[in-house]
Formats: sequence, C-alpha cells, structure tokens
Amino acid sequence: MNYDVLIVGAGHAGAQAAISLRQLGFEGSIGMIGDEKDPPYERPPLSKEYFAGDKSFDRILIRPAAFWGERKVDMLLGKRVKSVDPQGKFVTVGDQEISYGRMIWCTGGSPRMLTCNGADAQNVHAVRRRDDVDAMMAKLDSISHVTVIGGGYIGLEAAAVLSKFGKKVVLIEALDRVLARVAGEELSRFYEAEHRAHGVDLRTGAKMDCIEVTDGKASAVLMADGERIETDMVIVGIGIVPETGPLIAAGAAGGNGVDVDEYCRTSLPDIYAVGDCAAHSNRFAGGATMRLESVQNANDQAKTAVAHIMGKEDAYDAVPWFWSNQYDLKLQTVGLSIGHDKTILRGDPATRSFSVLYMKGGKVIALDCVNAVKDYVQGRAHVLSGALLDQAQLADASVPLKEVGLA
Ligand SMILES: Cc1cc2nc3c(=O)[nH]c(=O)nc-3n(C[C@H](O)[C@H](O)[C@H](O)COP(=O)(O)OP(=O)(O)OC[C@H]3O[C@@H](n4cnc5c(N)ncnc54)[C@H](O)[C@@H]3O)c2cc1C
Repeated sequence: MNYDVLIVGAGHAGAQAAISLRQLGFEGSIGMIGDEKDPPYERPPLSKEYFAGDKSFDRILIRPAAFWGERKVDMLLGKRVKSVDPQGKFVTVGDQEISYGRMIWCTGGSPRMLTCNGADAQNVHAVRRRDDVDAMMAKLDSISHVTVIGGGYIGLEAAAVLSKFGKKVVLIEALDRVLARVAGEELSRFYEAEHRAHGVDLRTGAKMDCIEVTDGKASAVLMADGERIETDMVIVGIGIVPETGPLIAAGAAGGNGVDVDEYCRTSLPDIYAVGDCAAHSNRFAGGATMRLESVQNANDQAKTAVAHIMGKEDAYDAVPWFWSNQYDLKLQTVGLSIGHDKTILRGDPATRSFSVLYMKGGKVIALDCVNAVKDYVQGRAHVLSGALLDQAQLADASVPLKEVGLA
C-alpha cells in the first residue's frame, strides 16, 4: 500500500489535514490511519455535551462517516502505527508496511495515568476517547460517589456534568488552586467557588496516596493525611503524554512532543507533525517551545502543514484560543498568559460575567472571558496589536474593549 500523503492519527488534526488537502485541490492519494474504531470526532464534548447525554455520537462526528469516501480519503481505522522508517519512507501497522510520499503525524496524546497502588482498578477512568466516556456512562446509573483527580479543565468539566447528574463529587487538586497551570488566581478562585456552590467537595493542596481496591474495583481514595474517601468511580484528569514514540524512535528531534519548525516540519524528511503532539516555537509565548492542546491549534497547524505540502510557505502564527463549558458558564480564552506580570479584573465575578486580562510590560497578552463574549471578540485585537493601552479603561467594564485608548 502506498499513499502520496499518509496521515497518522484520525483526530482533529488528522481530519483537518485531509479536508484541507482536498479543499486546496490535492489530487494525490490520501490514507488516514487511526487506532480508534470511529472516524474523526470532536473530542471537547467528551467532557461536556456528550458526557452529559445532550449530544449523540453522530452529532459530534467532525464529518459524516460517508464524507471520507466521497473525498477519496482511505480510512484505515482500528489500526496503530508501530514504527516509522524515514529512509525507506514507510510505516508499520501490525505486519503490514504502508509507504508514503509525505506523512503528517497527528497522534495527539494519551492520558497521563496515576502510578500509585490501585491505579489500574476497573473503575478508574481517563477522559480522552469515546470509549472512555462510554464506559463511564454505562456505569453512571449504578453509582453515587465519584472522585475526580485533577483540577484542570477536563477534571472540572467532568465534575460539573457529574454534579448536575446528582452525584456526590470530590475533586482533588494537589496544587493550591485549580487551573493553576493555565490561568490566574482570580479565575481559579471563581471556579472553585462555583463548583463548591454546586455541591462539589473541591479540595486544593490535597495529596492522595493510593486507591483502595475491593473485588477489582476502586472503593476508596486514600489521602496522604490518612483520610479515606469512599468512591464508586475515579476519574483521572492529570494531563497527557504526547504520542510520539515511533517518530522519536525513528530519530525525530523532540522531548516533550516532536519538534517542528514554522511549517510544522519535523527533523525527518517529508514528515510533518501537528496538533497536541507537536512542539513548536510560539510567538504568543515569547517564542518559547511548547505544545498547545487545543482544537484551534490542531486545525491551524494542520492547515500550515498542508499549505506547505501544496507549495505555500505560510508560517504558523495563529493566536491561541480555547474554551471551556462548566454549568452555565462559558469561558473563552485568547492568547497565552505565560509570563504575565499583572492581571486586570474587568467586571465583577459576583455577576458571573467578567474577564481577566493578563498583562506583560503594559501590553495585553491574554484574556480569560467568563460569559463575556464581547470582551473575547474585542480583546483579541489587543493581543494581536501588542499596543500599550490605558489600564484604567481596560479595567472599566463600561468601556467596550474596542474603544480603549492608548496609554
Ligand atoms: C475531554 C476533552 C475535552 C477537551 N476540551 C477542549 C475544549 O473545550 N477546547 C479545546 O480547544 N480543546 C479541548 N480539548 C483538547 C482537544 O480535543 C485536543 O487539543 C485535540 O483533540 C487535539 O487534536 P489532535 O488531532 O492533535 O489529537 P487527537 O484529537 O487526540 O487525535 C489523535 C488521534 O491519533 C490516534 N493515535 C495515537 N497514536 C496513534 C498511532 N500510533 N497510530 C494510529 N493512531 C494513533 C489517537 O488515538 C487519536 O485518535 C479537549 C480534550 C479532551 C480529551
């Protein structure tokens, strides 16, 4: 088997790569290998509308199943690439070799799991794939106590859905606040208060020791201070590990992800990497090398790689954005807050509509907007411009962000 472009990973980035290739008139053969059984689907609803039962699986497919055949994209699903031979230009799937002209590596990441005793018990779940969520949903009717490990977006979103279902949820975060790695303290404290108001027993600075297992199932989470938290299910949301093994083993440069340049090229010939697994230099983080875990990044990097394959040198330079839905709160973020030296609170969190502006050297580098769509839309221009703005006006929610003057 041979493909002019071989896409490895049938998730957000893989889907966008195939769509963009055909949109730009690519007439060669395209193969997409994915180790999940389903065609590409949206991952964010797994901790939101799909988990809540508000959207069926069909409604979260990125394209209807028939689309891929109509666009002459060969879908090789339920298959996992084990190794890459960059000299011979083929990958190995089981005992089959599949050759490529160019390859786009879009394998995302696997959930980081606990390593303590009991971590592999039957009802300890990650939230990454449809199968993970289906397995949890099948058990929900018969359980009442759930412990969520990790106060990042996925843990918080899962806790919100479960508390809406009336489950007794304990959320354990080892750091002193939730969302500590991605947001400022104002936002963390606001979400902590919201979850507590919805009945979640949210604990920060809390260290777990291990999981107690009874008849193969998690029955309690044992804390470092000796407390025993009875549980029927454990959900682990402590980040991902990029799926880069075969590429790194083949000699690609990388560490935390596969290193890519501004066109998403890896150090191996004719191999691109995009999405959660790709470590790139991001100008919105002062040029720091990083991986971004967002749909926007997966889509934009896929478009960059495809443009390059089609002979256009459009360097990746997209402003990062992200969203999170918890209860009736819609959070939208734009920019990257890493390295901020000040925050400006705009609006009153008590109204449940406000924004946090992240400043660096007097410039707006990022915004977190809670139920504040106008700030999100208008603030984007400030992140892009890097202008020095009047900070009193930035803090005044009655002044639309687009009307804020220069400092
Ligand atoms: C529960 C959840 C909620 C999220 N919420 C949001 C949100 O609100 N907003 C947002 O912007 N982002 C959100 N994200 C992140 C977003 O979904 C990811 O950034 C995005 O899916 C990355 O796309 P990707 O194509 O790089 O990886 P993925 O979508 O993970 O796709 C990678 C695919 O490759 C497969 N694969 C891996 N290794 C191999 C191999 N060797 N061979 C074959 N196939 C392989 C994987 O199984 C997977 O199917 C969320 C993620 C999760 C899990």
